[in-house]
Amino acid sequence: MVGAGVVGLTCAARLLADGHRVDVVARDLPLETTSSVAAALWYPYRALPYDRVLGWSRASYDAFAALATGSPDAGVTMRSGVEVLREALERPWWAEAVPDLADTFVVPDGYELGWTFTAPVVEMPVYLAWLASLVLERGGTITRLNLSGLPSGADVVVNCSGIASRFLASDETVSPVQGQVVLVEQVGLERWWLDADGPTYVVPRSHDIVIGGTDVEGEWSRSPSPEVASAILRRALRLVPELAGAEVLGHRVGLRPARPTVRLERVEDVVHCYGHGGAGVTLSWGCADEVASLVS
Ligand SMILES: Cc1cc2nc3c(=O)[nH]c(=O)nc-3n(C[C@H](O)[C@H](O)[C@H](O)COP(=O)(O)OP(=O)(O)OC[C@H]3O[C@@H](n4cnc5c(N)ncnc54)[C@H](O)[C@@H]3O)c2cc1C
Repeated sequence: MVGAGVVGLTCAARLLADGHRVDVVARDLPLETTSSVAAALWYPYRALPYDRVLGWSRASYDAFAALATGSPDAGVTMRSGVEVLREALERPWWAEAVPDLADTFVVPDGYELGWTFTAPVVEMPVYLAWLASLVLERGGTITRLNLSGLPSGADVVVNCSGIASRFLASDETVSPVQGQVVLVEQVGLERWWLDADGPTYVVPRSHDIVIGGTDVEGEWSRSPSPEVASAILRRALRLVPELAGAEVLGHRVGLRPARPTVRLERVEDVVHCYGHGGAGVTLSWGCADEVASLVS
């Protein structure tokens, strides 16, 4: 398994459950990956094609819902929230993946309506550590290794190297979409909020709140910008006035692995699974199921 982000670790855990031997190798360990920066609200954002993404999203929704009730240490919570809209739209293409999507007219000024629904919120630092423990508990290994190409010598190599597939798989269609977030103290917020314009999102976790964001195509820098952070906070405050005065705890930048479509296919002894854009968490368990069937 190449990669220890959410995609690689989920696939590793899934393959181990099927009885395979799995060695994960990665340049960055779980808490150093793009995945650790994710907000990470279940939402199929910037990932195509719609039909496969819908299936993967639905499977992951169910897997996270089961973790939220059955594995309290995993850092997954089912939270109700609102996606606000400036004008009324038809139901979203992913509506059938969530059980309780409904219109709401209780929205901040400037918006026409919102979609309210329950979604998994995944506290990534907690969840990635939990997933890594699951991999080890099931007999897998995780080793830091900076590869210059996909390894040979394994029965099957699973490539979950995210943005690095541009080099490791010579795939120039993979490119970064930079995202910046601000972490603030928890001020008692229970619901998440999302405005696709911006994008602007406010995602409460147990001890802090992730506020985003940005969406800069082709930008490779991982340095947070103070000006961008101020603009993010201004937008978020308009959406959720309760954030006024919340202490800023930190800033993070990650590079979403964007691709015209997610690549999930087997080519001889390599299964490629990368290019999840802004939805790597949202698609993770569904993709892992498909990787498992391709490996077997
Ligand atoms: C600001 C922000 C907010 C986001 N919010 C959400 C959200 O709310 N919901 C959601 O579903 N998604 C969200 N995402 C998207 C999500 O983070 C990504 O889709 C996901 O992290 C991709 O996971 P991955 O495992 O493919 O890649 P990564 O997490 O990047 O992991 C790639 C792995 O490959 C390894 N690797 C790379 N090169 C090499 C090499 N040469 N040798 C060995 N190993 C290598 C890396 O070290 C790493 O371990 C967000 C992203 C950002 C930036």
